Parts: sequence; C-alpha cells; structure tokens
Amino acid sequence: LTERLQKAMEKLRKKPKVTEADLRETMREIRLALLEADVNFAVVKDFVKKVREKATGAEVLKGLNPAQQIVKIVNEELTQMMGETATPLAKAPHIPTVIMMVGLQGAGKTTTAGKLAKKLKDEENARPLMIAADVYRPAAITQLQQVAATIDVPVFEEGTEVDPVQIVKDGMAQAAANHNDYVLIDTAGRLQIDEKLMDELAQIKALTNPNEILLVVDAMTGQNAVNTAEGFNDKLDITGVVLTKLDGDTRGGAAMSIRAVTGKPIKFVGEGEKMEDLDVFHPDRMASRILGMGDMLSLIEKAQKNFDEEQAQATMEKMRENTFDYNDFLAQMDQLTKMGPMENLLKMIPGMANNPALQNVNLDPKQFAHIKAIILSMTPAERENPDLMNPSRRRRLAAGAGRPIVEVNRMIKQFNQMRKMMKQVTNGNFSGLQNMMGG
Ligand code: GDP
Ligand code: MG
Repeated sequence: LTERLQKAMEKLRKKPKVTEADLRETMREIRLALLEADVNFAVVKDFVKKVREKATGAEVLKGLNPAQQIVKIVNEELTQMMGETATPLAKAPHIPTVIMMVGLQGAGKTTTAGKLAKKLKDEENARPLMIAADVYRPAAITQLQQVAATIDVPVFEEGTEVDPVQIVKDGMAQAAANHNDYVLIDTAGRLQIDEKLMDELAQIKALTNPNEILLVVDAMTGQNAVNTAEGFNDKLDITGVVLTKLDGDTRGGAAMSIRAVTGKPIKFVGEGEKMEDLDVFHPDRMASRILGMGDMLSLIEKAQKNFDEEQAQATMEKMRENTFDYNDFLAQMDQLTKMGPMENLLKMIPGMANNPALQNVNLDPKQFAHIKAIILSMTPAERENPDLMNPSRRRRLAAGAGRPIVEVNRMIKQFNQMRKMMKQVTNGNFSGLQNMMGG
C-alpha cells in the first residue's frame, strides 16, 4: 500500500500543476492501494468518491503542494471513516460493569479479557472477576486461569459440565457477593458463526444486560474479519470491536471496513501476546498506519510534548547539511530519554521497524548511559568533528569512559550509520517527516 501510494504521490509532487487527469490517476492508485490493504470494496468505492469530491475543489488543483494536500485529505477521510476519536469503555452506574467478550475461536477473546482486566486494574485500581463461560474446549478454562494468574485476577468457573448461561448466572452472583466492580465474561467461539453459539450468546446477553459486548476479531484475517463483524453485530448488536494481532505487518485495512460496515467503534487494538499489549484505538493513528506513515502521529505527539522546537529545527538543519556531530548526538539523546523507551520511538518511524541498519543498534537504557560516558570523554574538537576518530583516540576514550574498546568502536560505527541514515531521510525520501518536524 505504502509503496503504491508513495509512488503516486511522488509523481504528483513532481508536477507544478495538477490536472484533472492527474487527479483521476491518483484516485485510481488510492483505490488499488486500499483494496490491496484489505479494505472492503464497497467501502473503498465510497471512500474514493468522498476524497475525489474534496480534492476536486479548486484548492487542490490551484494549491502549491497538491500531493501533500491529497495525502492530507486521504488521511482525514480515513480517520473520519474509522470514527475520529478513540471511544472509551462504557461504565455501569452501579457496580459491576459487565463486559462480554465474543468472537470466533482463536480471535483472542481469552487473551484480550486478561489484557483488559490488567488495564482496569492498573488504571482504575479495579477489582475485576472473570467468568469462564467457554465449556466446549477443555483447555479453555485452564487457559483463562493461567492468564488470570499472571495478572492476579480471580476466575469463576464451574467446569465443563454446566450450561454456560448457568455459569454466567452463578458468576454474576459471586461478583455481587464479592463486590467486584467489573465482570469480564470469556465466552466460547466457533470456527464460523453458527446459530447455536449465537443463541447461547444472546441468552448470556439477556441475562447480564452487559455494558459492553466487545467483539474480538483477528486483524490478520482481513476481509473475513469484516464479515465476522457484520454477522456478530446483526445477532448481538455489539457495542465495540477489539482488533487483535496488529503486531507484525498486518496492514490494518480491516479497521476501516469494520467501522464502516457495522457502524460500531473499534475500542482497542491488540499488539502482541503479552498482557500489556493492548492499546486504546486511535483512528487517526490507524489512518497513518494504513497510509504507511508508521505511527507518525504518536511520535509527533510525543515530540511536541517534549521537544524543544528550536533545537529540533537546528538539528534538522544540521542533519540536512550533514554537520551533525557528537554534541548534537548528546543533545538528541537527552531529548530522547525524556520521550520514553527508544525502541518504541524508533518503531514508530516509517520504515524503521525493519530497517537493517537498526538491527545492531543497542537500545538498552544502560547502554545509553555508556554511550553518553564515551561521548563525554571526547575532547571538544572530537565532538565537533566525528571524522577525527582514529585508533589511538578510540583507546583513550575507552580508558576515559571505563568501557571496553569494542564498545567504543561499536558506538562510533552506530553514530556513523545514524548520520548516514539522517542524510537519507533529509534528502527527500521522507519529506513528510521533514515538514512535520519543522524542517
Ligand atoms: P480465543 O479463542 O478467542 O479465546 O483466543 P485466545 O485468546 O486463546 O488467542 C488465540 C491465540 O492468539 C493465542 O495464542 C494468543 O496468544 C494469540 N493472540 C491473542 N491476541 C493477540 C495479539 O494481539 N497479538 C498476537 N501476536 N497474538 C495474539
Ligand atoms: Mg478462549
């Protein structure tokens, strides 16, 4: 998607004026790109129509930078289609708030129930109870218990012989007796939607009158995820969706279709198997992801919060002129440490997550301190002129910082790689980034 879109944008960018035909061609590319990203056909059609209407407005054709304007329009429309702002969880006026997890087998219901319980515990100091209502797979209860044990949350279960609706009923009574403020119901799944399962879920719904019915769907299943969402929503009138397995290189096109097809918000996204891998869904960030801009918005948000604008601009300038030196590196490191773990930041930059140049970069915070020590052992001349680094100077640095020589060498190598990368970035491959950072 990214490649196709970027090529189309590149073409546009080169043109001083954008004609009607150029616009048509671009729209065609956007359409294909979205289809490739698993976005539903009807949704794409509607989407392209909207973008075209906006773009045909004289503004884009007359504007100074048509390519950027189109990216902006596409980004805005995508965001809007996915629901604009993140939607918080509903809460019951009286405890307990009941959250029912539904979805196909293997979608991630049990895992997500655990992640949610952890989130509620961490953020609200909540005391959730989980109910094991999947009695069809013997391992299901054990799995829920294992998940719950890692986050220290109680599980209500009655084995596999009792009817799930009865289990939920008994579980609710237990929650009332224990004053649990949240109840998370882990229901059974099937490989496909079937009547029996839907009836069972409908009964549990009628019994508990849940505040949230969260449909868990596997983002990797693309178009199937959309059909599943439609099916569950028709039968159960779900309140929201959790999109799992967005780690890896799932393109996320399903997010756009699900929202458009069901009209229900995506509330969370699962980004890994661990209990902390659950994030609130941000439509604008997903839009950027679909557009292949990485999680640029998150990064910018962080940067805006912590970055000294003037310094960022000065750095950009230095990157462009290739005069970025160890002093700048030090200043950058100080700013970056303010922004949180390096890995997370780097992963948000488009193309960085899998960049081979980053494979060897050590992002451990302790390493960070060591790097700093090495740079602080440099003379002012060395800091200003990275090319001075010869073997004897390197040995002196190692002794000065109390670090092994291999580490000094590694640091210098990484610094040079970084400089090279910066030069590439500022040389236009990521002109968006440049603009966003005020370059
Ligand atoms: P259920 O059948 O719907 O209850 O699904 P499970 O919770 O048992 O999850 C099925 C598999 O998907 C398990 O191996 C989970 O570890 C995995 N899984 C769930 N959510 C995610 C996610 O967000 N990312 C990844 N990578 N794996 C996930
Ligand atoms: Mg399960």
